[in-house]
Amino acid sequence: MTPESRTAPGEDRELTASQRLIWTGQRLQPGEPLYNMVLAFHISGELESATFARAFQALVDRCDVLRVALPGDAASPDTPPRQRFRERFEAPFAQLDFSADTDPRARLAAWLDEHKVLDLDPRECLFESALIRLAPDAYVWYLNQHHLITDAWSCAVLFERLQAFYALARAGRLDDAPGLPLYRDYVEHEHARRDSPAQQKSRAYWEARLRSPTPPSRFYREPPTEAGGRTERVVCVLGAQRSAALRALAAEPGFRAFTGELALFQVFATLLLAYLARVTGNRTLAIGTPSHNRGSAQFKATAGLFIEIFPLQATIEEGETFASLYAKVARAAQELLMHAQPGASGAAHNRAYDVLLNFITASFGDFDGRATRTEWIHAGYGDRSHLLRLQVEDFDRADALGVYFDLNVDAFSREERDWVPAHFLRLLDAFLDDPGQVLEGVALLDPASVTAVAAAAPAETVVDLFEQQARSGPERVALACDGVTLTYAELDRRADRLARGLRERGAGPGTRVAIALPRSPEALVAILGVLKCAAAYVPLDTAYPPARIARILDAAAPLLVLSDAAARDCLGEFDGEVSDLDEVAVSEAGGAAPPASRPGPADVAYVIYTSGSTGKPKGVLVGHAGLANYVTWARKQYLGERPGDFPLFSSLAFDLTVTSLFVPLISGGRVVVYPERAGEIAVHRVIEDNAVDVVKLTPVHLSLLQSLDLAGSRIHTLILGGEDLKVDLARTVTRRFGGEVAIYNEYGPTEATVGCMVHRFDPARDTATSVPIGRAIDNLSVHVLDARRNPLPRGVAGELYIGGVGLAHGYLDPDPASAARFVPAEDVPWGERLYRSGDLARCNEDGVLEYLGREDHQVKIRGVRIELGEIEAALLDFPGVRECVV
Ligand code: AMP
Ligand code: MG
Repeated sequence: MTPESRTAPGEDRELTASQRLIWTGQRLQPGEPLYNMVLAFHISGELESATFARAFQALVDRCDVLRVALPGDAASPDTPPRQRFRERFEAPFAQLDFSADTDPRARLAAWLDEHKVLDLDPRECLFESALIRLAPDAYVWYLNQHHLITDAWSCAVLFERLQAFYALARAGRLDDAPGLPLYRDYVEHEHARRDSPAQQKSRAYWEARLRSPTPPSRFYREPPTEAGGRTERVVCVLGAQRSAALRALAAEPGFRAFTGELALFQVFATLLLAYLARVTGNRTLAIGTPSHNRGSAQFKATAGLFIEIFPLQATIEEGETFASLYAKVARAAQELLMHAQPGASGAAHNRAYDVLLNFITASFGDFDGRATRTEWIHAGYGDRSHLLRLQVEDFDRADALGVYFDLNVDAFSREERDWVPAHFLRLLDAFLDDPGQVLEGVALLDPASVTAVAAAAPAETVVDLFEQQARSGPERVALACDGVTLTYAELDRRADRLARGLRERGAGPGTRVAIALPRSPEALVAILGVLKCAAAYVPLDTAYPPARIARILDAAAPLLVLSDAAARDCLGEFDGEVSDLDEVAVSEAGGAAPPASRPGPADVAYVIYTSGSTGKPKGVLVGHAGLANYVTWARKQYLGERPGDFPLFSSLAFDLTVTSLFVPLISGGRVVVYPERAGEIAVHRVIEDNAVDVVKLTPVHLSLLQSLDLAGSRIHTLILGGEDLKVDLARTVTRRFGGEVAIYNEYGPTEATVGCMVHRFDPARDTATSVPIGRAIDNLSVHVLDARRNPLPRGVAGELYIGGVGLAHGYLDPDPASAARFVPAEDVPWGERLYRSGDLARCNEDGVLEYLGREDHQVKIRGVRIELGEIEAALLDFPGVRECVV
């Protein structure tokens, strides 16, 4: 029979708003079964196949939506074809028998797999159905419908009618089968109301609502720029116990709603929003939720597509609890229901969310007295604008709710698809445990899964490592400055003499010596001399205004300041001892040697001032163990076994510079000193001289090199630190070097000793805006934690915490807020002392961290950490700044 002969002409109607959206979605992805709604009803008991088929045709005869087709062409993309309600349609219905198969169920599964993805042709027939015999007393009724003609409730209507018609057919009374209310009536109802005042009001409401769009959801990875329609259904095993607890909660005061189903829907909406808030980090959220649009008894008994999706929006506030979010959801749901007029949704609604909650209230009973189990088969496709769909059903009125996540495979990797139900269930269990608890307080991962770094603190200090070089290569040049050089032996000897003089003045472990010297060989001698006697050096930038220097000196209370005639001015009114190196240094010949003090790993090596969490500069006490660990690692990472020459061209008062001071000196290489020169950019001179192998610099420094031709440069390695490094800059510079340069992005606060993480820039792999900050260096650990210091899953943004041997001892005279940045091991579930960086980060798929900016209002100006609240005072501290208008 040709379709024409089976099909009587009928009446044409426009599509409803909801149908139009589905039609448009399907048109964009022709051939993909995005909207197949596939059900397999497993019926236990004997059935007569031929009778069943007759009952099914009787259903088609009485249910107009099953006779719908879209025979015409679309006039335009905006004007879809009309739907034809055919007078008569002889529906294809297959009667299959798999019972003779060796494994009828396997055969069924294979058959369903093939048929669920059927490309239903809207010109012909928008469903496929069959009765499959598995055994004399086991049948499956298969019904696959295009969403254009159905929704879950509609399926329940069809099931109920079919089983009643089957009973009538068995009794020989099929002709008595009553008609079903017509879907056409709903279509007309929807059209008739299109310009009604209620409808206009509703449209205006949504227009206003949708004006401020919510940000797209970013789950565990960057959302795909163009997601396909492939989705995977992942079961979230709730179980009977949790289901009962959720139902009980929904009946409690504070959660109760107009109906138990509404309350349970609101519970799931709350959980889904909580999950989104925690995983995407978004605060303004929206989820699509279907409105049923079956406002009358007639429509409740009608088969067809009624549901229409509207966005439910919520804003998460500081300290939001499950209970407070639930109250918001309840209000939003009420408002949504008020404005969810049939036909009010459109493309703008569809764009307002990328996550959907489908809470299905339909259920199926027995099939003419035969126990029936409903299987909802996922065709593996979905609307590509929905990255995640949470489906909740109670089809069989069972003890356990059916909960599934349909996840777009381009937005979630295989591994990540299993994380979704796991993280959702952690939130759900927390909700059940205590609805009054703060969302931020729920650990998405078990803190017990984290282990502290097994740190091996180095036994040697930088002094030991330097002296080893001085012994093994005494004649090698250790330092060069404007044509003057010092060998390792000379530098060592001069530092020894200074150390001896310092010891005579009482310098030793626990004391501090400030150094106010410009970049010069003397400055290096001073640093080594102070370190040799186990005191801590406090570098002062001689370009700092006297007020800032005075504050530092006041807090650091140094034993003395090493300076020179030219630099002394910067010390202002300082009334402590200020000496030249020559005044302090003692020759080997003179006097009785003071008791030799040498630094050990537990001593403080230097005090560097940086913005604390209050914005006021804080002295960070950095220990020898952390320093030795960093420089040893840096040598291995950047030089391997080779000696390396580094330029000293940045301020001695920045911890960034520490790399250029010590790494060359423990490798047998040279420190090439570039003294400050008025009106000159030191880094340019470094490039022109072409006398070094490795340069440690900030991205701002690096941007000054962008325009230079660096192809002939000796430099083999650039170490970037202090600020976010952009991929574009790294790429340009790599090109300037003719590809012959290694660029490392080193991350680290002063409090974790110069650098605690590193990533080698890879032009092929690093395609985001910023170069990742990478992984922890040796003997340090990095953790991305939530507001309660619980570990976060890969891909979720949180605050970066650092642990391991690099952590500073603390601050000099800390205020409570700054002191709290160091979290004692007792307060961390995995027993590791941590430093709270205030930086936001997340781990990407390759297991490397990405830097996401500050969590507070700190900014960097010329490499100096500044709290925005203190910007005026801080800027006045800059050399040359006289006035500051903020
Ligand atoms: P400081 O204590 O002066 O070294 O400043 C440390 C701060 O500088 C960190 O907390 C970050 O905010 C920022 N920082 C340091 N290195 C990097 C980097 N490689 N990428 C992005 N930010 C960085
Ligand atoms: Mg730093």
